[in-house]
Amino acid sequence: MAYNITLIPGDGIGPEVMEAAKMVIDASGVKINWEVAEAGAKVIDEYGTPLPDYVIDSIKKNRVALKGPVTTPVGKGFRSVNVGLRQSLDLYANVRPVKTYSGVPCRYENVDLIIVRENTEGLYAGIEHNVGDVAAESIKVITKKASDRIAEFAFNIAEKQGRKKVTAVHKANIMKLSDGLFLNCSRKVAEKHKDIQFNDMIVDAMSMRLVQNPQNYDVLVMPNLYGDILSDMASGLVGGLGVVPGANIGEDIAVFEAVHGSAPDIAGKNIANPTAAILSGVMMLKYLEEYEVAKKIDDAVAKVLKKGEIVTTDLGGTAKTMEFAQEVINNL
Ligand code: ATP
Repeated sequence: MAYNITLIPGDGIGPEVMEAAKMVIDASGVKINWEVAEAGAKVIDEYGTPLPDYVIDSIKKNRVALKGPVTTPVGKGFRSVNVGLRQSLDLYANVRPVKTYSGVPCRYENVDLIIVRENTEGLYAGIEHNVGDVAAESIKVITKKASDRIAEFAFNIAEKQGRKKVTAVHKANIMKLSDGLFLNCSRKVAEKHKDIQFNDMIVDAMSMRLVQNPQNYDVLVMPNLYGDILSDMASGLVGGLGVVPGANIGEDIAVFEAVHGSAPDIAGKNIANPTAAILSGVMMLKYLEEYEVAKKIDDAVAKVLKKGEIVTTDLGGTAKTMEFAQEVINNL
């Protein structure tokens, strides 16, 4: 059976790391018809928007996409492509597994946590206005529906993966109503999942503890902006943005993309680390229940990282993007 999957190459290092990911996935034996859909700055002249309808239509049709980073031009009045996609497809859960791979230079061992970020509201609701010329306001929206749904998602992922604990991350001591609602919803959902331990932590304390003892955490669930910040920080704990994959999940629809952005400083040089993109592909294959192929690719990536001979510059090596991908294929 062949899967139809939307491939969004994206901007900056996107086309390079996505080509690498596609090459590895194609070499793994799974049959995929890739439907390429371009988005971002390069399509604005032609379509008048960085997120043309055909991109959304393609994902709606195929139900699964592998996406590179897409940059939205700042200050030109366009809504963020990433936020636009998540909201229009109701990709309500952003999942970012943060895990140490042996051989990857970092300060910790045995980190294996998952950040579950609410993906549709919070401070990303896009409700902002000026108050004359003396102030500007951003409205943070937390709803019961989205909070219940994301908490339920976090407990389900914990149960599915045999994990032990869910921690709700918030700032309810200050934002008593909005984060208070998020926390209350998490607590109520926790009562339905007695098999999984539950606790909560204020986001600033969480940041400190993650840096001190990231091994102590399992599944972390949080509102949108905290998830954005903590997932970049957590990437730094395990070797940087080059190695952490991600997924945006909705009801019966999913878009897989690395945590990193378009990294314009290293774009076009064939030096970006494609690990995060390849591992996003592994998450995609698991979503498609292609567990064997997913494991095969994950094991090959782990082997190449462990050897540490053919790795990209961010991990202390000299390999080019495609050389790393080829080495993964050699180890499949
Ligand atoms: P965005 O706001 O679009 O999410 P960002 O500000 O988080 O982007 P990134 O583009 O993700 O920034 O990357 C920050 C820096 O991390 C880059 O400039 C680059 O040096 C490094 N980096 C990110 N991704 C990779 C990668 N795949 N391989 C190597 N280095 C990377």
